[in-house]
Amino acid sequence: MLGERSHGGVVVVFGSVNVDATSYVREFPRPGETVHSSGFRVALGGKGANQAVAAHLSGARVELIARVGDDANADVPMRTFAAFGLATDGVAAVPGEPTGVAQITVNGAGENTIVVTAGANAAFGAEVVEAERERIARGDVVLTQGELPTATIEALSVAADAAGARFVLNLAPPVPVAVGSIALADPLVLNVHEARVVGLGVGLDDDARPDAWRDAAASAVGALARSVVVTLGARGAVAADRTGSWTVPAPDVRAVDTTGAGDAATGTLAAMLAEGRPLPEAVRLAVAAGALAVLRQGTVDSYAARDAVLGLAE
Ligand code: ADP
Repeated sequence: MLGERSHGGVVVVFGSVNVDATSYVREFPRPGETVHSSGFRVALGGKGANQAVAAHLSGARVELIARVGDDANADVPMRTFAAFGLATDGVAAVPGEPTGVAQITVNGAGENTIVVTAGANAAFGAEVVEAERERIARGDVVLTQGELPTATIEALSVAADAAGARFVLNLAPPVPVAVGSIALADPLVLNVHEARVVGLGVGLDDDARPDAWRDAAASAVGALARSVVVTLGARGAVAADRTGSWTVPAPDVRAVDTTGAGDAATGTLAAMLAEGRPLPEAVRLAVAAGALAVLRQGTVDSYAARDAVLGLAE
């Protein structure tokens, strides 16, 4: 059922792009204190960028619309996109803005502190949606996340719907987007924390049975969004649309680093929906992609290729 078929649906991603700069320290510095790190890493980040890479690796033709700054930091995302073979003609530099940056510090206990500067992502206004109408119309799926200005997300939901594209909204972080825009999401993709913020699964704790989350997702169909996917970490995901609801367990794997697993799952979900797979099948493949992404350190560097995702989901 999950076998090879012609693929290459078009996924248009309106996405955030960040440079993740991570320092590793024994203890966090106190105000006024300087500490030395034992290591430093710079890598591509931003949920939009991560999901675009995941959709691309899953076999979709990805059109990434994004904004970087006019600074040297922009080289990190641009070089990484090129290395993956992802087209960058929709990625423009905003004069006078810095590239989005996440300054991450990880201490000896594995805890982190993160300071995000949205930079060019905050300058990604709704006028870009107007200017990109042709590209939106080419999309089988139009995908975005909560890291762009809410007015941009709202304009995109309406434009995608008008163009007949399937609007996939990963409301991460759960910013206050108009209910009318969430209502167009097909699916709305959330983790359990985000779900509770939007009023889905309130009263369910993180350890609640997956089937309880499935029922919560089912009751939100039509009321909150056209369809709903809730990811449950090591326990997989649940999904619901007008035709039914499903619990999809994750494969049992040894997790090394779960950073970016949700983005791997969402990007793959968009790619599989874009090639015409039904929601439960696309979620099975998304859960497989998420599980494969936790096997190695890193974010996009840990993402698996299409064949591995299809192989694990069989
Ligand atoms: P987020 O990273 O957005 O919080 P989740 O933690 O729900 O999202 O994880 C997203 C997906 O990644 C899950 O649906 C699952 O497929 C996969 N995943 C995450 N953690 C694990 C794990 N420990 N074992 C297997 N799969 C995992």
